[in-house]
Amino acid sequence: MIEIDNVHKSFGALDVVKGVSLTVNKGEVVSIIGGSGSGKSTLLMCINGLEPIQGGQIRVDGTEVHAPRTDLNKLRQKIGIVFQQWNAFPHLTVLENVMLAPRKVLGKRREEAEEVAVRQLTHVGLGDKLKVFPNKLSGGQQQRMAIARALAMSPDYMLFDEATSALDPQLVGEVLDTMRMLAAEGMTMVLVTHEIRFARDVSDRVAFFRNGRIHEIGPPEQVIGAPQLPETADFLKSVN
Ligand code: ADP
Ligand code: MG
Repeated sequence: MIEIDNVHKSFGALDVVKGVSLTVNKGEVVSIIGGSGSGKSTLLMCINGLEPIQGGQIRVDGTEVHAPRTDLNKLRQKIGIVFQQWNAFPHLTVLENVMLAPRKVLGKRREEAEEVAVRQLTHVGLGDKLKVFPNKLSGGQQQRMAIARALAMSPDYMLFDEATSALDPQLVGEVLDTMRMLAAEGMTMVLVTHEIRFARDVSDRVAFFRNGRIHEIGPPEQVIGAPQLPETADFLKSVN
């Protein structure tokens, strides 16, 4: 599980995450919603140690992420992350792109890496695009390739940071469907999203971020369906 305990994060004088605590249990899907600049992406970066923190603690399966002795490369192998956009290597095929990390990071043999990559690409519906180059994929297919690439490392956790925000509206659904499938399979996920209806459908809990803090958290029927705080309600109105 992921245990975030009173985390503080600042960039110079700018306090961005101001005492956030959140535990994400195995198999749980937690969505983070909130306005631009509220610290959502920064918190995700802290979870896999891409950003140092100034206070508090984050533990992943009991390993303290920001402890000096922690092997971040090893930790990151179990945390897949998908951003708004992933720039695949243009000179490599889709299959080769997905094989790369299992080969280089996990040291898998070519056949083994290929087997995993084919399986994950097929899983996200790209089984017919293996030999294609990334620039021949639609934006939605590229994001599904990014998901397959993360899954090829056999992560225990998946973090999604606005994975559909850069997509044309008609391409959003296929990526959300892929994320929904992972959730249904029991993947532990933390996702930052503006797709409120999706968050409502797929999440066990929803956290509304405001000004570096979790302003309201609870099951989607509460936070989205019947927000207790006026700021949450205002935010939901603003995105609908
Ligand atoms: P969100 O994802 O909720 O839109 P972010 O976590 O990206 O918000 O950013 C929160 C605040 O931190 C913003 O004011 C942003 O400008 C600032 N910020 C984010 N990353 C950096 C950085 N690397 N250096 C300085 N400030 C940053
Ligand atoms: Mg962000």
